[in-house]
Amino acid sequence: MDRNKISGQRQYEFVGKFNYIREAGTSGEQRASEEIQRDLKELGLTGRREEFEFAAYETTEECLVVTKPYEKEYLVTGYKRCGNTPAEGIEAPFLYIENGDDISLSFAKGKIVMLNGPVRKEMYQKLVEAQAAGFVTVSGTPIDMGEDLKPAGYTLRGVEKIPIQGVNLHYKDAVELVEKGALRVKLILRQKKAVRTSQNIAARIEGQDKAEEILTLSAHYDSVPQGPGAYDNMAGAAMIMELAIYFKENPPRRTMEFIWFGAEEMGLCGSQAYVKLHEKELSRHRFNMNVDLAGQLIGGTVIGVTADAAVCQMLSYVVHETGMGVSFINGIWGSDSNTFAWKGIPAMTLNRDGFGMHTRYDTIDLISPWSLKRSACVLGGIAERLAQAEVMPFKREVPEEFRRKLDTYFIDK
Ligand SMILES: [Zn+2]
Repeated sequence: MDRNKISGQRQYEFVGKFNYIREAGTSGEQRASEEIQRDLKELGLTGRREEFEFAAYETTEECLVVTKPYEKEYLVTGYKRCGNTPAEGIEAPFLYIENGDDISLSFAKGKIVMLNGPVRKEMYQKLVEAQAAGFVTVSGTPIDMGEDLKPAGYTLRGVEKIPIQGVNLHYKDAVELVEKGALRVKLILRQKKAVRTSQNIAARIEGQDKAEEILTLSAHYDSVPQGPGAYDNMAGAAMIMELAIYFKENPPRRTMEFIWFGAEEMGLCGSQAYVKLHEKELSRHRFNMNVDLAGQLIGGTVIGVTADAAVCQMLSYVVHETGMGVSFINGIWGSDSNTFAWKGIPAMTLNRDGFGMHTRYDTIDLISPWSLKRSACVLGGIAERLAQAEVMPFKREVPEEFRRKLDTYFIDK
């Protein structure tokens, strides 16, 4: 592709327009979707708004109090999708069990245990089997100050029965609990399920002579509530817009669909809504090219390819031609590309490592036009080769091994 037609500065300015929190289902996310539609309109493309509903959990009470040998309430964040304690809470002996090893777990029965977090499905099940009364996890670092002392929030996924509840505590408070010899604690967690509305924005450029075959370029535009998500993932959203500009000027032979997903952070809800809505045409989909986490200057770029090893090698070859450094992983990935692969459509996610994901530090300050341009050229290079090929160089299939892993992955959502 002609790299002179890709602008890092234009992408950077795009990211700059979204310097606000875009939590799924909120007015911030809605505002961003309208902004994307406006840009598409200016470009002469129609941005379709595809609305969907998803379940969110709202905490109404989260509380941890040490009751013996001293009395103090600590700032905690409740685990979402983790059920409710009785209104008055549960009170039990307290025990720090570090990483939740089997030796420590054998003492957990009837206790509210503290462990180094976060707790995921597997550890949750161990805690339930050990008959713990509840759990407290530890996050943050000993050098945090000010706002960073607020404990991070986590969501429990893939757990069907939720007999015990848990909260997250900051590192510094965890130290205090152990040093001051907390013996008994009281835990309260109350939450309710709410149905919220989000939207994907999609725009299509019909192929010139192979329009029946569809290639998708995608990125999520929602953010976590902690920060404005410039790196995760407005930078990716900017890259998809830049490529929409490029392909509008350089018409592809295959149909290209550009998609900005909502509610990715809630568990890939946007891409799941997309494949459901477009179920009838999924057989025409040949490849999904997704971006999640991009644009920071210091970092390395990885392309995760969820398709046959031969596809991974082909993409690697195309990138070798450009001379831009990228490493490849052939496996499933934790982003919207998984949804396509699960439906049998070969997929990839371009990812650049960097600093501050899911924190308030994820702002445009760390985004670089140099990095945006480079990654957009890598992604655009792949997209163009596939969009213009006389014959698609690989089949529409995903290896059985990945399909099986994705089954587990999505049942866990
Ligand atoms: Zn992301």
